[in-house]
Amino acid sequence: MKFHIITYGCQMNKSDSERIAGLLRELGWEEASGAETADLIILNTCSVRQSAENRVFGEVNNLVELKKTNPRLVVAITGCMPGRDKNNQMRKKLPGADLFFPIIDVIHLPEMLQALGVVLPQKNLPQDYLDFAPQYTNNFQAFIPIQTGCNNFCTYCVVPYSRGRERNRSVKSIVEEVKKLAEKGYLEITLLGQTINNYQAPDPENFSSLNPFKNHFAALLWELNQIEGIKWIHYTAADPQYMSDEVIATLILPKQVNYLHLPVQAGSNAVLAKMNRKYTRENYLEIITKIKKTRPGIALGTDIIVGFPGETAEDFTQTADLFRQADFDISYNAKYSPRSGTPAFKMADDVLLEEKERRWWVLQNLMEEIVLRKNQIFSNQEIEVLVEKCNNGLCSGHNNEMKFVQLNGDETLVGKIVKMKVDEAGMWVLRGKLVI
Ligand code: SF4
Repeated sequence: MKFHIITYGCQMNKSDSERIAGLLRELGWEEASGAETADLIILNTCSVRQSAENRVFGEVNNLVELKKTNPRLVVAITGCMPGRDKNNQMRKKLPGADLFFPIIDVIHLPEMLQALGVVLPQKNLPQDYLDFAPQYTNNFQAFIPIQTGCNNFCTYCVVPYSRGRERNRSVKSIVEEVKKLAEKGYLEITLLGQTINNYQAPDPENFSSLNPFKNHFAALLWELNQIEGIKWIHYTAADPQYMSDEVIATLILPKQVNYLHLPVQAGSNAVLAKMNRKYTRENYLEIITKIKKTRPGIALGTDIIVGFPGETAEDFTQTADLFRQADFDISYNAKYSPRSGTPAFKMADDVLLEEKERRWWVLQNLMEEIVLRKNQIFSNQEIEVLVEKCNNGLCSGHNNEMKFVQLNGDETLVGKIVKMKVDEAGMWVLRGKLVI
């Protein structure tokens, strides 16, 4: 029996797909070369925008056609769409799908397949899908989910509905997984969670007695920093309200990358309040000041929504002003789009699309100006680079500030941290030569 997984959306979904693939391999299934040769197709869906959901409706209709040539084909839909489909409206639009379940229920996939007549071996599986042994996508970098779901209910966001309330993975399971990765030679890990810096260990007794931190997320980072072999650790996404002094102090632990992603979403207190973000622009800027003091030169990333309901020209000016003050290296800017089932869906979407576009471009131009200036610091410098790919003598990867780099080299460099001399520091790429 063969499976094929189609993944939409964010890193959390990619990580979930790795765990689903691990579960299916444990059950004796093999990965198919594509949808046409699979007996089970799983669509791991994303609900962040309507367009992402529309793509799934289209894709399922195409896949169902494959049942004509393979009558035993099972089409399963998981991820964010089933979780938020409280009134069955989406399910009704997908009659060709055999299974439709939120990601949290993936632990019941074996029973669901058996109910459809698929014969499976009996296995003792973990009770939490985050504990499934994943099928990693490469042998030097790995996603480590430490938390899923969210209790924050930002008014624009579907996550508390699609993924449910916050659940945290045990310290024991996380540390065991990272130790195994280190033994296999993995160099870089990315910890994943919706409000990751609010991680609450279900088993704090498993923190070492030498651990100096009380805050659970800080303590977890300390534990992972002790694991020999792992070189670079980063995480996403932190929430400003949980950026405590202890968490800020971990930025200088030896393996933490020189980058922090800290979504701000808006720079106006009126808009932040409407978004139900639980900090003010003043709190945010104060945190940024502490971060820069703790780790001078750290690269900063953020997420911003422009054109949120009721966002005035003055509100947006405050966002642009905060952007300048924080001096972000990168910002993932989105034009607000209403999502059904969220509190913001009931607010008037009153900023015209042209105005959203205009605000988006203001931030984009600002970001390009800042990042180009900041990247100049790397000109003629020797930097460390984790090489991810090489093709025809050109390799690419990223540096410790998570900036995209290109250098000369061959396949033997893939999965290694090497030194590169920067010849050209552009806006979105640092180009240079391998230092031997
Ligand atoms: S904290 Fe993040 S995941 Fe949670 S509701 Fe807000 S935006 Fe969504």
